Amino acid sequence: MKKIVLSTLVALVFATVSSCSGKKTETQNEQNQSVEQYQCPMKCTEEIFDKAGKCPVCEMDLEKISNS
Ligand SMILES: [Zn+2]
Repeated sequence: MKKIVLSTLVALVFATVSSCSGKKTETQNEQNQSVEQYQCPMKCTEEIFDKAGKCPVCEMDLEKISNS
């Protein structure tokens, strides 16, 4: 009886660990695709850029915005 419980527990832990690591990679990929937005730190333009660069108005480096 005890043996069955133990092996069930081991299987459960194994499943949790493998599903967790799979989820983590998925979430990271999602963030890289959708969250990256950049805006001028001086806010001299309302424009949102999808990649890093310089503000076309004041030529300062764009600042990364997070959606959270
Ligand atoms: Zn600017």
